[in-house]
Amino acid sequence: MSAEEVLAQVAQEVAVCEKCALFHSRKKSVPGEGPAHSEIMFIGEGPGFYENEQGRPFVGAAGQFLDQLLSQAGLKRSEVWIGNVVKCRPPGNRDPLPEELAACDVYLERQIKAINPSIIITLGRYSMGKFMPGAKISGVHGQMRKVGERYVIAMFHPAAALHQASLKPAILADFARLPELLEQARQGLGRSAPDVPAAEPHAEPKQLDLF
Ligand code: URA
Ligand code: SF4
Repeated sequence: MSAEEVLAQVAQEVAVCEKCALFHSRKKSVPGEGPAHSEIMFIGEGPGFYENEQGRPFVGAAGQFLDQLLSQAGLKRSEVWIGNVVKCRPPGNRDPLPEELAACDVYLERQIKAINPSIIITLGRYSMGKFMPGAKISGVHGQMRKVGERYVIAMFHPAAALHQASLKPAILADFARLPELLEQARQGLGRSAPDVPAAEPHAEPKQLDLF
C-alpha cells in the first residue's frame, strides 16, 4: 500500500472507531492532515471544539498561532503533516486518559510508518511522553534527539504559549531554529531535501550584441 493509501485508510477507520470511550464525544474524528511524504510531522494532543466540528487539526486559536510559528520558520502549513495522539475530542477538552492514548496509538504508529518523516515535533506533554518518557518540557524543549529511525523535537504546545506569555519567547526561538535542525536531521539520516517543483522556465537573458 502506498503512504497515501495508508493515510486514507486510517482516516476511514478512525471515523467509525469505537476502540475507546472518546467516540461518544466525537462529532468528526480528526485523523490529521498533510502530504504523505512530509519531512516533518507535528503531533499535538487531541481535537478541541473547532477541530471536532470541522474534522481538521489545529483550526482554533492554537492553530492560528501554529500557522504563525510555521511561517516564521519559513514553512507552509501545506508542506507539513499535522495530527494528534488521540483522534477524537475528549469531552470538555479534558486530558486524554492512558487507556485512550493506548487505544489510539495504533493509528498514529501507522501514520508515522507510512509518512516516515525525518523529524517528529511533539506539541504538548502527551505526545512528548510517547517519544521521551519522563522528560520535562522545560528542560528538553527545542532539543533534537534521535529516537529510533528519526529525530524528535519536543516543543511547548502553542495553546500553552498562548495562555502563558512567559513561554512565548521559547516557542518562537524553538521554531526559528527549525530550518537548521531540519538540515541537520537530513544529514544525520543521509537524506536530501525533497525536490522542489521545477522553477518556471525563463528566457535566458539576451546576450548583448557588442560586435
Ligand atoms: N490542540 C491540539 O492538541 N490539537 C488540535 O488539533 C487542536 C488543538
Ligand atoms: Fe478510536 Fe482513537 Fe477515537 Fe478512541 S480516540 S475512538 S481509539 S479513533
